[in-house]
Amino acid sequence: MLELDQLVMDFSGFKAVNGCSLKVEKGTITGLIGPNGAGKTTLFNLIAGAFPPSSGTIRFLGEDVTDLESDALFHRGLVRTFQIPHEFHQLTVLENLMMVPPAQPGESLFANWLSWGKVRKAEAEVERKAWDTLAFLELTHVANQRAGNLSGGQKKLLELGRTMMTDAKLVLLDEPAAGVNRTLLRKLEEKIQILNRERGYTFILIEHDMEMIEKLCDPVICMAEGAVLIQGDFHTVRSDARVLEAYLGE
Ligand code: ADP
Repeated sequence: MLELDQLVMDFSGFKAVNGCSLKVEKGTITGLIGPNGAGKTTLFNLIAGAFPPSSGTIRFLGEDVTDLESDALFHRGLVRTFQIPHEFHQLTVLENLMMVPPAQPGESLFANWLSWGKVRKAEAEVERKAWDTLAFLELTHVANQRAGNLSGGQKKLLELGRTMMTDAKLVLLDEPAAGVNRTLLRKLEEKIQILNRERGYTFILIEHDMEMIEKLCDPVICMAEGAVLIQGDFHTVRSDARVLEAYLGE
């Protein structure tokens, strides 16, 4: 689904990503771990099209997308969520979901702008999908609350819900466990697993919470100094001496 070949991101002489090559298979939940400064966030930025790499290539669904920007990638089904959820505080939870544009341009309201009837139908469809998403995430009871009033964990669930509104194919999750209480963490894990197993989502997640990585991710990729140090199942990666060394040198 995704193939990175020799990616380099050079910030004025400092290579935050330095010859990173990896493949992500369709249908997996790939965990990206590594000490602070290993280049994980920069790699996510490159994959999501926040800025182009200094060199190297990115292929998504068989096509070279190295120079595509985040909007174009979004329309192809590659969606990134953020460490700090970017909800619209003043809008309700339901409205937050309804604001998300569909990933497929052909389905946009704009495409139907000539026909009021079609617009109404499309709006009704978006609203139905938003309610379905809320039910799936068990957030129906807060549908009409302002998103800014949600707990940290509920905001993460909402963020996941926003990706569901887009019919994403590959979702990049940036520290989904950060700031989430244990109860909601279990729920978040369960929803990620269902989206993966039953709805065909592929995920890459950056996470420091090793319990979550162990539970969800196979394979696990450990980065250090801008490149892949080792890739394998959780226990192989965790017990590798180079990984321990990389964390000790953090
Ligand atoms: P991680 O997410 O693994 O902690 P980052 O990708 O955030 O790592 O950072 C990797 C390295 O690149 C760090 O040393 C960081 O200071 C540096 N870095 C990240 N972004 C920039 C930037 N825009 N300009 C210069 N250096 C940067």
